Amino acid sequence: MNDYVKKDLKYIWHPCAQMKDYEDLKPIVIEKGEGVWLYDIDGNKYLDCISSWWTNTLGHSNKRINEAIKKQIDSIEHVIFANFSNKPAIELAEKLVNITPSKLTKVFFSDNGSSAVEIALKMSFHYNMQKGRDEKRRFVALSDAYHGETLGALSVCDIDEFNMVYKPLLLDTIRVEGPDCYRCKYDCARDACNAECFEVMEKCIIENHDEISAVIVEPMVQGAAGMRMYSPVYLKKLRQICDKYDIHLIADEIAMGFGRTGEMFACNHAQISPDFMCLSKGISAGYMPMSVVMTTDEVYDCFYGDYNERKSFLHSHTYSGNAMGCAIALENLKIFEEDNIIENNREKGELIRKLTMEKAESLKHVGEVRSIGMITAIEIVKDRATKEGYPWQMRVGYEIYKIALSKGLLLRPIGNVLYFIPPYIINEEEIKFMVNTCFQSIEEYFTGNRS
Ligand SMILES: *Cc1c(COP(=O)(O)O)cnc(C)c1O
Repeated sequence: MNDYVKKDLKYIWHPCAQMKDYEDLKPIVIEKGEGVWLYDIDGNKYLDCISSWWTNTLGHSNKRINEAIKKQIDSIEHVIFANFSNKPAIELAEKLVNITPSKLTKVFFSDNGSSAVEIALKMSFHYNMQKGRDEKRRFVALSDAYHGETLGALSVCDIDEFNMVYKPLLLDTIRVEGPDCYRCKYDCARDACNAECFEVMEKCIIENHDEISAVIVEPMVQGAAGMRMYSPVYLKKLRQICDKYDIHLIADEIAMGFGRTGEMFACNHAQISPDFMCLSKGISAGYMPMSVVMTTDEVYDCFYGDYNERKSFLHSHTYSGNAMGCAIALENLKIFEEDNIIENNREKGELIRKLTMEKAESLKHVGEVRSIGMITAIEIVKDRATKEGYPWQMRVGYEIYKIALSKGLLLRPIGNVLYFIPPYIINEEEIKFMVNTCFQSIEEYFTGNRS
């Protein structure tokens, strides 16, 4: 065994894993990246279909971003963000206010997605306390939601594997059954969906609005639920009812922001402006930990006044407003504009979708191919007619993942759902390799013929 692998196993506890799995599938040590490709220390290469956990927008070791980092590091790498500021943070804040929905006018910096969610929850609660609405202290979240794994964020998550054990420690969240277009109970036509499923949310809000501080959603796509996509009509209805009952709407765009769904922000599909927008992952092009929470003048103004612990938002993260992260984010957005990234993604997204649909046609184990912008997901089922899935113990996705790795493809399935979320700079040839190799891997899993 390679020395690095040995030491990795000796010293490191990897995230989101049963470490015993590493006995069979050893950690793959990457020493170089270029574009969509990752190169390991044994000379193998892998196409990064998942943008290294949904973060990488413009490819690994992007020349322009590397230059921006080199330039920034020679002026200031990091400076305390309390009472001090830095040029890239200021420029980035202005830029974000200009490109996000109109009501979002203030930017609060943090350093990862979960803390952005914590901040939005705390701000919403704290706002209501200041308004004297002491009973508004609960949050509403959708079934199968994912919002991060610190205790507050985990409280609004609904993924059993992540939540179950910690239940005694979590907030008392109101859980509402979310949209599920693939297994829709409402007989909606997918292309003329009127989000009839919203009735469950409506009922919940009418009954509980006195207690509700905010509703948190992943707009358009519930990522960790298995790239579950839903209609913008749902978001429109949600915005309306939140306005009616003085409830905050928190848009967790941590995964979907920065062009992933084909619009700069997923909320744009519904033309809504949330009260809080959490951004992370794609913000810093997959280079550095970084996040922001954006909010409205109304929320900001409520906290504005003489210093006291009831009025001030006394929350901080050491690396808030990190100058390196902000410089990267600025260059990322500059490239988005200059290279027309979102516009060019339309064709690429469409090609991925088309090739995937063609391949899926003949495979009876593919229940659904769903797609939006630069996401295409493939749900594997036992039986197309009943849509019954495989039990998780079979780890179908994990087995396909291992086969795909041996063919130079980095997938990271969620249960029975395989998906492509590649860096936006992927080219046509790479798209073909990605789709073909993925389907070869699926076929080999089901036929048992390994090539
Ligand atoms: C990844 C993710 C988070 C958590 O972000 P971390 O940086 O991993 O803490 C929260 N919400 C959504 C929708 C995410 O995809």
